Amino acid sequence: MVTVKVGDITQLHVDAIVNAANSSLLGGGGVDGAIHRAAGPGLLEECRTLGGCKTGDAKLTAGYDLPARFVIHTVGPVWTGGQSGEPALLESCYRRCFELALERGVSTIAFPAISTGVYGYPKDAAAGIATSVMREHEDRFAEIVACCFSEQDASVYRHALE
Ligand code: ADP
Repeated sequence: MVTVKVGDITQLHVDAIVNAANSSLLGGGGVDGAIHRAAGPGLLEECRTLGGCKTGDAKLTAGYDLPARFVIHTVGPVWTGGQSGEPALLESCYRRCFELALERGVSTIAFPAISTGVYGYPKDAAAGIATSVMREHEDRFAEIVACCFSEQDASVYRHALE
């Protein structure tokens, strides 16, 4: 089942939340900053051991003080007009997160709208990619949450899921 929720991803009681990180994995603004604040310093300590993450790839850590047991950190592409492989890289983010989640027996997982904040990916196009990869995986999870930070973003996802 794919569901759309509006709110702060750090508050969700799911097995894993996905972080829209940067390639250093050492924290940043937006959802990344919120996740590190809510998880506490243990998260940064573990992230320091990971050696960063390539765009389109993902790495898993514990969730520390979060309700979620795991954080899956993925690095979305920076939007530079769409001719630099951005769609394939964004799709790869979602696929790699699902792969890691399945390896760890995750059955409920929440995603933010990767790359649509500071990284500038157009929201409609990003939601199209996100929801199609989510749909492909829905049979293997109890719940896949598209966690939106505004009601406006949620309506973009609802439209994409129709
Ligand atoms: P990126 O660098 O990948 O663009 P951002 O964190 O800037 O990442 O934005 C990604 C998305 O996460 C945006 O849609 C933003 O509104 C949303 N966002 C920011 N904070 C939170 C949060 N606490 N919970 C869920 N979504 C969030």
